[in-house]
Amino acid sequence: MGATPQGKDITIEFDCQFRVGLSSSNFSSIMRAFLMLLPQLLEDFFQKVLVGFAEHEMGLRKKSFVCTACGNDTEFIWKTRHGKPTTILTWFRWITIRQLQVQCKKCGHKQYVTRQLLGMESMKRVPDETRRKLALVGALSSYRVSEKIGKMFGWAVDKMTIWKSVQQVGSKLDFMLDANEEPHGEADGTGVGIVGIPKRGKELKVLVQYKKGGGIRVAGIDIGNYNGSWDKLFQKSIDVIKGFKRPFLLLTDGDASIFASLKGKVTILVQRCLWHIPYQAQYVLWKDAVQRKGEEWLHVVAELMEICAIRPLVDCQDTIQAMIVSNPTLTLFS
Ligand SMILES: [Zn+2]
Repeated sequence: MGATPQGKDITIEFDCQFRVGLSSSNFSSIMRAFLMLLPQLLEDFFQKVLVGFAEHEMGLRKKSFVCTACGNDTEFIWKTRHGKPTTILTWFRWITIRQLQVQCKKCGHKQYVTRQLLGMESMKRVPDETRRKLALVGALSSYRVSEKIGKMFGWAVDKMTIWKSVQQVGSKLDFMLDANEEPHGEADGTGVGIVGIPKRGKELKVLVQYKKGGGIRVAGIDIGNYNGSWDKLFQKSIDVIKGFKRPFLLLTDGDASIFASLKGKVTILVQRCLWHIPYQAQYVLWKDAVQRKGEEWLHVVAELMEICAIRPLVDCQDTIQAMIVSNPTLTLFS
């Protein structure tokens, strides 16, 4: 149910008449009044469309639904077009619609057909489409901000519902390399720590894959230790890597633990990311107790920045000065 045979359109007549009191004709008054009408308008519209489709279906010999008790799919009678109320979450807000119920003429079994008409699983109150939209908003912003933005545009969806959507959609997401895109990617820790005791001392790790038409796509996400534990990031993609005609080229910070997890499984060309070299050198200088931003320190870092050709990314004034000193022709940074 849900679609007509041969995809033929069904025309729904929808007249509406509302009485609404407004104290002004200015823009915000009209918008506010409309938001008051919205729930009723939505509910009426859903009800009209559902009844329209159900009537059409009842006029056909063979139904697209079957009696869940005896399997009959031809003979039914209407029980009610306005039965027990049920709630569903639209993009804008929760609405209450009256359920449509039919009765099997063969065995007398009564059943609701509302969710079948909506293309929803029985008992479910949040359609997948609503779930995914809320999850995307919730993933791009804090739950509180998501709720606020929603309210600004007339939604009435609370932050708990947004949170729940993020959890449910997130648990079904699976990242891996795409065999149809480039055999080329980058893996790195994000430095974004994970809040919560069980994951303390860990960060979010990401594998991105280059796309054929330009741009990148996320091909792996994992929570792991600051140094190491790349296994899970690549585990799911090993077969995809094997299927590429060219060896997979991976750009990394040079973390050797990446090799450990892939050893003997696939051939991967690894290129150390230039950006990381001067930054990892700073860590080594610190371990060797070289005074930060001292003469020696600045010399090493400035030279490395120059060698790695990442001039535009230098953001430390002292390092910039040291680079100018070591290379007098260098006066402008592009
Ligand atoms: Zn039956």
